[in-house]
Amino acid sequence: MAITPLMPVYPRSPVRPVRGEGVYLYGENGEKYLDFASGIAVNLLGHGHPHLTKAIQDQAATLIHVSNLYGSPQGEALAQRLVDATFADTVFFTNSGAEAVECAIKTARRYHHAKGNPHKHKLITFSNAFHGRTMATISATNQEKLRDGFAPLLPGFEVVEFDDLDAALAAVDDHTAGFLLEPVQGEGGIRPGSREFIQGLRQACDERDLMLVFDEVQCGYARTGKLFAYEHYGIEPDIMAVAKGIGGGFPMGACLATEKAAAGMVIGTHGSTYGGNPLACAAGQAVLDVVNTPQFLDHVTRMGERLRGALEQMIPNHDDLFEGVRGIGLMLGIKMKADSRAFVTYLRDHGLLTVSAGDNVMRILPPLVIEEAHIQEFVEKLSQAARQYEVPKAA
Ligand SMILES: *Cc1c(COP(=O)(O)O)cnc(C)c1O
Repeated sequence: MAITPLMPVYPRSPVRPVRGEGVYLYGENGEKYLDFASGIAVNLLGHGHPHLTKAIQDQAATLIHVSNLYGSPQGEALAQRLVDATFADTVFFTNSGAEAVECAIKTARRYHHAKGNPHKHKLITFSNAFHGRTMATISATNQEKLRDGFAPLLPGFEVVEFDDLDAALAAVDDHTAGFLLEPVQGEGGIRPGSREFIQGLRQACDERDLMLVFDEVQCGYARTGKLFAYEHYGIEPDIMAVAKGIGGGFPMGACLATEKAAAGMVIGTHGSTYGGNPLACAAGQAVLDVVNTPQFLDHVTRMGERLRGALEQMIPNHDDLFEGVRGIGLMLGIKMKADSRAFVTYLRDHGLLTVSAGDNVMRILPPLVIEEAHIQEFVEKLSQAARQYEVPKAA
């Protein structure tokens, strides 16, 4: 047998973490890594955060799981907090980001169905988007590497250029249900949509009764210095998928919607066995306790500015390698002149964890609890690595 017991769908690196402490990960043989990847924007509170750990321990000892056939005091309490903190009136809990986006897609279609317009089923989506790995979410992107070999894909999606308002508006027809987008693209290469683009989509939705569906799985949950990225744009979506940071590492996601947008999501239309079970909700509560305060959000903004400033200062010294910094808050990317994937690998071997992304960008997604000293350590090591790095010669 040549196949590995773990289905070999990931190009797994030699980094093999077995323990985490704050902003650091430790490998099987005691290697130490500065973790500026955070499990891809998941470990908002770093590793082993006492408040999150205790909340999970206590809840595990009390009640881990019950069916969604029963009343959920834990789910109601967390949903109420999200409703109070956002545009939304109602929340469906999932176990992952892709499931949250699935629920968002279903909610948008059901909205038009409930209004007697079942032909309005098409979502306009955007180039280089990433919405997950389920059939619907790979159908919602034009990234060939995600779709290759999985045909037939689901109908009902049309992809246009990201950040091109005219292209988006031109794609609207009588079958359009709405727009589905990441206001700040993550996997696609840390690209914030422009104000004009996002506000223009909101206006089109208002004028034509379409659903504005945001995928904030990566950019949400305090990552950009606001609890959710839409707050930067002075508008609100109708439906929003969140996940990654929501449980600080505990698998969870959520689909948030206004009362109007959720009009079609009545009894029997959707479900999940695990979704929002007491253990997940305890993790979700603990994360909100920490991140949803003005002081914490200010901290993210301040650390984001420091990190960005330090990177911008460093880049001219390595202008053969780096082109520039982009992003918001602690969702940053360095656009590279050399292959970002190879450089991310090189950094791993030097004890720094980052993540590559599309458009030859290196993503920098530290835990949101980082302090000045971590930024200094990161930038020093990055700068040193950049000095030593020899760009692999093209064959
Ligand atoms: C990671 C991600 C997803 C998918 O989340 P999973 O938990 O892996 O299913 C969806 N959308 C965006 C924007 C993401 O970054």
